Amino acid sequence: MLEVDVAIIGGGIAGATVAGHVAPERSVVLLEQEQELAHHTTSRSAAVYIENEGGPVFHRLSTASRSFFEADHPELDAPLLTPMPVMKVGMEKHRDAVAAEIAAANAVTSSIRLIEGDELTELCPVLRPEMIGVGMLEPTAASIDVMGLHQLYVRRARAAGAEVWRSARVEALQRTDGRWHLETASGTVSAKTVVNAAGAWGDHVATMAGVKPIGLTPMRRTAFTARIDHDPSAWPFIYADIPELHCYFKPEAGNQLLCSLSDETPSEACDARAEEIDVAMAIDHINQLTTLNLRSVSTTWAGLRTFAPDRNPVFGWDDEADGFLWMVGQGGCGIVTSPIAGQIAANLIAGRPLPDAVTELGLDQAALAPRR
Ligand SMILES: Cc1cc2nc3c(=O)[nH]c(=O)nc-3n(C[C@H](O)[C@H](O)[C@H](O)COP(=O)(O)OP(=O)(O)OC[C@H]3O[C@@H](n4cnc5c(N)ncnc54)[C@H](O)[C@@H]3O)c2cc1C
Repeated sequence: MLEVDVAIIGGGIAGATVAGHVAPERSVVLLEQEQELAHHTTSRSAAVYIENEGGPVFHRLSTASRSFFEADHPELDAPLLTPMPVMKVGMEKHRDAVAAEIAAANAVTSSIRLIEGDELTELCPVLRPEMIGVGMLEPTAASIDVMGLHQLYVRRARAAGAEVWRSARVEALQRTDGRWHLETASGTVSAKTVVNAAGAWGDHVATMAGVKPIGLTPMRRTAFTARIDHDPSAWPFIYADIPELHCYFKPEAGNQLLCSLSDETPSEACDARAEEIDVAMAIDHINQLTTLNLRSVSTTWAGLRTFAPDRNPVFGWDDEADGFLWMVGQGGCGIVTSPIAGQIAANLIAGRPLPDAVTELGLDQAALAPRR
């Protein structure tokens, strides 16, 4: 039996960042049910660093993560971020709503601004001007090297002495004599603290532990890549979020776009698979928005974005189960918020207050607490 201070359940970005931040201060084991880490949602994202996404709480956590992404990390030979502005587009009738969203977003990110007229097609020449009246540009957004980020945290955790167990599905856990006892497919662990970083399986893990679930909902989203007849490398990431037209596309290397319908379909926790209908609808929406005339796709995949009932993240101690820390409900922002999430977990485990970067933006523990 392995005895540690902290057992982290889930080897996606949430578990890896907690391991990387906690391992220098506590003995840690990271437990992943699959043969590979990051097999589920973490390896299936669009890999975009955008601050103004997911509502005010996620916006603040993403902004608080920026300094980590921009820091010089000696272990890496390339930066984690590659600049790539993001532009949300709308029809002329959405002008007032877009202006109001910009005003609210400027409270945290002052560079976000309204785009109109010729500047829309100067930024992205394939947009149909007859469809689009306004844009909201976030000039400081970027593309993220997600696997580089994940590996950086795992490497730091290992360097600090953490154990990483793959093929180690937690099958039972219970608290006795002031410690958690975990039965995994690869052995038994005793830990003072359990971190639930199990993504779509967050409520399953809680139920196994006899802890009241949060009411998490995994939402499937399908994505795909498509080759186009343009070099999109200078375009922003474009997204539309209106009922009649919702989709996004992101410039990728080799004249490819990463595309999605921005769909959200409730799902069981599972190995999510792409839905053909969502690919077909995304192609239709992107072709209405642009002159791209997409016809075929290169690769397709799907992942589960998991939300708490109020769609805000759940980062905090369970108030009914001693030593049970929730790090779930990251929705569509789990990569961009991961650096500050790891720091929040390390502070909570060490009994320190939330990081200054979080409180300075007006967030407190109550906003993140499981039973808020
Ligand atoms: C199409 C798409 C686009 C996205 N785009 C972005 C984006 O641009 N930017 C952004 O920030 N976010 C984005 N996201 C969201 C982001 O990917 C997620 O928020 C993030 O990956 C969640 O990480 P996680 O570690 O919580 O979950 P996961 O990566 O799913 O990790 C949870 C892990 O827990 C393991 N596990 C579960 N139960 C057990 C158990 N009993 N024992 C052991 N292990 C267990 C699972 O096997 C899994 O590996 C996107 C998501 C999708 C699907």
